[in-house]
Amino acid sequence: MLPEASRDDFMEDPTTWETIDTDDIDPYFADRLVEAGVDRIRTCIQCGTCSAVCPSGRRTAFRTREIIRKAVLGLKEEVVSSPDLWLCTTCFACLERCPRQIKVTEAIVILRNIAVEEGFMLPQHRKTSQKLLTTGHAVPIDSVNRRMRKALGLQELPPTTHSNEKALEDVKKIMERTGFSTLIEGEAKEGA
Ligand code: SF4
Ligand code: SF4
Repeated sequence: MLPEASRDDFMEDPTTWETIDTDDIDPYFADRLVEAGVDRIRTCIQCGTCSAVCPSGRRTAFRTREIIRKAVLGLKEEVVSSPDLWLCTTCFACLERCPRQIKVTEAIVILRNIAVEEGFMLPQHRKTSQKLLTTGHAVPIDSVNRRMRKALGLQELPPTTHSNEKALEDVKKIMERTGFSTLIEGEAKEGA
């Protein structure tokens, strides 16, 4: 027989509950998501289906429902500075199952865009993006691959930006004109 649970096992001390400071709320934050296409986000009933089906949440502390809730509440800084935001694999399982038909995956992608605009980017993503800017490849060729290509009788450098300066210049122009190169400059903000 299992030991009997006491009432205290189920009751949390209310004085330890986290409270939200109104200064931390951006009342227009959810509007940005609505305007960007996640028009039903405010209909979230916090059922947790999105978290339950999330393959990433099964292995990490990432909780989709929590991100959506915080976004609706307007806790912008907390959401965009969270490294968890980058744990979504964009598999769309949550979007397919949400009983409110909220575009959950789109919401996460939009939140990521806002995070990057605000200077929050994972160091790995920044580094990969900088490689794209300097070489035209997120994963540029290395000496091992060069040797293998040669051994196979191939041109040492593939016919990409690696061997086409004009194409690399074009890539750089696109990144500058779209503002992407500015976004990836500098150091990441704390929290990202
Ligand atoms: S599945 Fe939809 S309604 Fe349920 S918590 Fe997630 S976003 Fe909200
Ligand atoms: S799209 Fe992202 S948040 Fe949704 S279930 Fe897949 S990994 Fe989880």
